Amino acid sequence: MNGDTITAQDGAEPEGDSPAERKMRFLFALRSRGVTDARVLTAMEKIDRGAFVRGLFADRAYEDMPLPISCGQTISQPSVVGLMTQALNAQPRDTVLEIGTGSGYQAAILSQLARRVYTIDRHRRLVREAQDVFRAMGLVNITAFAADGSRGLPEQAPFDRILVTAAAEDPPGPLLAQLKVGGIMVLPVGQSDAVQSLIKVTRLDSGYDYEELRPVRFVPLVEGVAVE
Ligand code: SAH
Repeated sequence: MNGDTITAQDGAEPEGDSPAERKMRFLFALRSRGVTDARVLTAMEKIDRGAFVRGLFADRAYEDMPLPISCGQTISQPSVVGLMTQALNAQPRDTVLEIGTGSGYQAAILSQLARRVYTIDRHRRLVREAQDVFRAMGLVNITAFAADGSRGLPEQAPFDRILVTAAAEDPPGPLLAQLKVGGIMVLPVGQSDAVQSLIKVTRLDSGYDYEELRPVRFVPLVEGVAVE
């Protein structure tokens, strides 16, 4: 009986598209788009993107494209997640703040690379859904909050690393202030309907260093907590 069931499931799998092959293609796409950091690739191999995409689009989770999630938001393209994570260069003892929890996928990747991850979204529903996935995966070093992330998280500041996954016109002042000296913030800046730039900000002893990394396209950073 059991054997029959397994055979039937195996037979339903399209040829050349086993989970292992899908994963290999996923990792190959990341590498070919410039994600080369071994720690980042290991984290992305371990964290199953399929767990963060629901409904209609679930079977496209292993393609290198952004996908719709609840509340009219998007889970970022995996190669962009990889490149941003690589640029952030989080270290094992770091405390990281992420603005824009969305599906929770980016926070889950960060949880593999840093000691502690705080993540904030303005949509309570997204935070709740992401928390469910973190719990199911046993990712106990992530704390998710529903709040306006443009104010940062003063109670837990300063941070070694800050990653923003929604675009502001300029780096929000509170986030700059909550970055440790020597810390790094990666964020998209620019108008929401135009091409934005991914920026890497390093806090120096005096002032900040800005480096422009690449063009990107993110949903806008919107002030205030969403009314649902
Ligand atoms: N990092 C996510 C993708 C983020 S999409 C992932 O891995 O899936 C951008 C998210 O930023 C959206 O969920 C949106 O609700 C959130 N957002 C926009 N403005 C915000 C703000 N001021 N504070 C917190 N979250 C915000």
